[in-house]
Amino acid sequence: MLRPIERLAVAVSGGKDSVSLLHVLTRIERRFPQVQIIAFTVDEGISGYRREAIEIAASNAKQLGIEHRVVSFKSLYGHDLDEVAHRVQELKLESVCAYCGILRRKALNVAAKEVEATKLATAHNLDDEAQSLIMSLLRGAMDELLRSKGESTGFVPRIKPFMRTPEREIALYAHVRRIRFQSIPCPYAGTSLRNEVRCFLDIVEEMHPGMKFAVPSTFGKLRPTESVAKTGGRCRVCNEPAFKTICRACQVLKNLGLRK
Ligand code: SF4
Ligand code: ZN
Repeated sequence: MLRPIERLAVAVSGGKDSVSLLHVLTRIERRFPQVQIIAFTVDEGISGYRREAIEIAASNAKQLGIEHRVVSFKSLYGHDLDEVAHRVQELKLESVCAYCGILRRKALNVAAKEVEATKLATAHNLDDEAQSLIMSLLRGAMDELLRSKGESTGFVPRIKPFMRTPEREIALYAHVRRIRFQSIPCPYAGTSLRNEVRCFLDIVEEMHPGMKFAVPSTFGKLRPTESVAKTGGRCRVCNEPAFKTICRACQVLKNLGLRK
């Protein structure tokens, strides 16, 4: 995933996965002096939750001697997630997480581009990967399944070093190494389809060990060639990379009536 010379942006939410990722990458990259790591935390604007996470992410970065930056929804979109959530509830739409995920993905890409990062590392683990793939399947979102491989024009190449590591092993690592992380869940997490898929996969894994590993490897065989994944243009609203005439972040803000 990484070369000996990189400018590596690491997304650190403050939870156990991302903070562990920052610790692991910092330990590995100490052997490669031409790799520079910058940690980013997205401040979605979730009252009573995100402030503590930012403080935890910042203190871990400081402990490791890593530069830490914060990118906020408010400064990027003019609205925070609490406002988005309010609109989602008013319009009786699906879970807040669906919107948050799209907005956060763009925020991280914008932030990584600003520092001219050559790679963007996120802490998605095996459980996250398996859940996302099953969710795309349930929603019939073939475009998401087909897009998930390879680099896309205008996006900083993303890597997921924990994508084959079960969540429980990362939690064990964080506890054994006494890493400080935020343990309270996001107040919007309970409204997510992901929760139901997570329960389903946990039950299946308990009864048939190894099934979680099988999900990404099965979907991996269905994915398209690199040339299909690289197709992409520019959003006519914000000029950020987009697969359609308008990027997904601008589209959701428009759907919520938060942007014309
Ligand atoms: Fe966003 Fe949902 Fe994660 Fe909360 S749980 S930070 S709303 S994606
Ligand atoms: Zn846009």
